[in-house]
Amino acid sequence: MVEENEVKNLELLGYDVVEEAGEDTAAKKIHKIKDERKEIFYSDLLYTLMNLRFSEEEAREHWAEMVKHKWVMSEKLKRNVGIRVAALDYFKNIKGLVRSPKIVEVSEFAATSWRAITDSLTELYNHRYFQNAVSREVNRVKEKGGCFSILLFDIDFFKIYNDSNGHIAGDVVLVEVARILKKNMRAEDVAARYGGEEFGVVIPNAGKEGAFEIAERIRIAVKEFKFANEEVLPSNQVTISAGLATCPEDGKTRRKLISVVDQRLYKAKWKGRDQICISNE
Ligand code: GH3
Ligand code: MG
Ligand code: MG
Repeated sequence: MVEENEVKNLELLGYDVVEEAGEDTAAKKIHKIKDERKEIFYSDLLYTLMNLRFSEEEAREHWAEMVKHKWVMSEKLKRNVGIRVAALDYFKNIKGLVRSPKIVEVSEFAATSWRAITDSLTELYNHRYFQNAVSREVNRVKEKGGCFSILLFDIDFFKIYNDSNGHIAGDVVLVEVARILKKNMRAEDVAARYGGEEFGVVIPNAGKEGAFEIAERIRIAVKEFKFANEEVLPSNQVTISAGLATCPEDGKTRRKLISVVDQRLYKAKWKGRDQICISNE
């Protein structure tokens, strides 16, 4: 027997249990989802609903109180007020955990959140998201051990390309490079537009060798791609130069790692461009 409330909770998290599974297997599916997410189920529910993050234990307590509150409100008003209205009254007027909430459609909120973390030209993540992703990986390595790498690359002689072909053609190159980057990295890697014609990639669980392999794949794919009017460049083709740094061996803080990778990028330029620098020697 499938509980209506459970189906609604899972809908909030983006699952369509009955539609996907049919009545018969829906109960099994609900059980499986709840089991997979048991450490974060109520925490995620409240985050989805209110954008507030609690530990799973706190979230479970709030959820139970809030459902009770919804029942009381519905009884008084003699109609079902729904979980969102009950959540708002509970967290604003009873718990005081939100002060001046703004009510927006989920789709609009999602679009705003997306804009806050992405670069509009390339649709890669932006500089801020990249910095946060590096911090997240630094903390993960500190807590759980292991390693990760960061790659920072820059298009060679891009000013010449722009000056000869125009800024719009330059923008097309940036979009193509972003596409090549996404195609050649792994699903778990985080690619960002770091600045004008600079790109950053966070490569989780990769030591120097593994990260270098990915970096070389990207470098060669850019070099081999035929960009429009690339003959204007000194080497007749669009190429990139990159620095690579690995945590913990090259640094154990975000600041240190970014500084090392930046120095190595400039070393790659100085050594003749179209290459990846992985050490200080
Ligand atoms: P290097 O090999 O040393 O990196 O040479 P470079 O010419 O690429 O370096 P420089 O820093 O002198 O020039 C970077 C150029 O990137 C300058 C600017 O015109 C271009 N650029 C930066 N952001 C954008 C952008 O959003 N669109 C376009 N089309 N060009 C950009
Ligand atoms: Mg640059
Ligand atoms: Mg450049």
